[in-house]
Amino acid sequence: MLLYTRICLLLLVCAFFATHVAENMANTSPVAPRVHSGSTRASEESKSTETAAAKPIVERKVVIIGSGPSGCTAAIYTGRALLNPLVIAGYNAGGQLMLTSDVENFPGYTIAPSGPELIFDLMSQAEKFGAEYWKTECKSVDFTQHPFRLELHNATVMAKSVILSTGADSIWLGSEDEDKYKGMGISTCATCDGFMFREKNVVVIGGGDSAMEEANFLTRFANSVTLIHRRDSFRASKLMLQRVQQNKKIKLATHRQVVKWHGEKGVLSGATLVSTETGETEEIQCDGAFIAIGHKPNTKFLNDGVALDKDGYILHESNTMTNVPGVFACGDVVDRRYKQAITAAGQGCQAAIDAEKWLEELTSSVEH
Ligand code: NAP
Repeated sequence: MLLYTRICLLLLVCAFFATHVAENMANTSPVAPRVHSGSTRASEESKSTETAAAKPIVERKVVIIGSGPSGCTAAIYTGRALLNPLVIAGYNAGGQLMLTSDVENFPGYTIAPSGPELIFDLMSQAEKFGAEYWKTECKSVDFTQHPFRLELHNATVMAKSVILSTGADSIWLGSEDEDKYKGMGISTCATCDGFMFREKNVVVIGGGDSAMEEANFLTRFANSVTLIHRRDSFRASKLMLQRVQQNKKIKLATHRQVVKWHGEKGVLSGATLVSTETGETEEIQCDGAFIAIGHKPNTKFLNDGVALDKDGYILHESNTMTNVPGVFACGDVVDRRYKQAITAAGQGCQAAIDAEKWLEELTSSVEH
């Protein structure tokens, strides 16, 4: 079943890029620096000025950086406000959902879509309202001038307002064959994938609150949960650790690291652990593995252009606006707590409404 899901996901993603976003996105490919053919609406509102040597300069009222559920929802709302949003989708468009199989908790679906299907629907909906997706990354920003200057690989975008929705990547262990079993037993989200492990044996890796939360949650489905941690003291809060220690379905395996993952027929079946005290190795059986060793918000490219907290998450100053007027932020790049597709989408809506209002005020202040 997992293999079948995986094949379907791959086919869907390929078809998606081949038919849907690739055409627009190809305009910003480093080998074909042509900005941009775009939709009818795009041509009406944006100007592209090409000089012989310089990168083309594109002007937009709203630029959304990031194409997960928050960015796509912001694109739907700003599209419907006739702001012709440009979405800098990244090279791995779609964000974390592209690694997720069934999304059973997104309201509105009685048959769970896969993560890529959900992203496909969101992008199609946004395109219907004039949003344009470019498959490229934003290398740097200059928020000290207005319009804001965004440097892409082969274009410069001057934006009256910017919505940052670049998400946060899960931190992976990097152990041998991890990539092989991602989505085939290895996950970073128990809320998303835990349901698939009914009456199975799973492991959780980490010693913080996320790991405790995931381990406890997984006991609703799994026969057994083994919490693997590299030390014997925990960063997790005392209460959450206590819940884990008192849960009869959870076994603690401390002073251990996963060094290699194993599988059968392409699906995860176990792991090799090494003792961080003695260096001895052991093999364990598991059907699922949940890595919960933290997240890293994608904010490096901002180069401190907006205020961040100590871990690099963007801080809101007023509603969804950052400390830079006209720059908004939404989704996992702001949210260290909920990290759900629906909460990201909800905040994408808020950021779009805030950006629209801000642009209206900007226009009326210029007119008066
Ligand atoms: P965290 O507190 O930074 O914990 C990460 C854990 O992963 C640590 O135990 C760390 O081990 C381990 N780790 C890191 N790199 C590793 C590696 N390469 N190999 C093996 N283990 C590794 O992260 P988090 O648990 O995601 O929590 C992040 C923040 O969100 C915290 O402030 C937390 O309180 C909060 N949070 C709150 C809730 C809640 O209140 N319900 C739920 C989830 C998260 P070491 O300890 O050895 O470094």
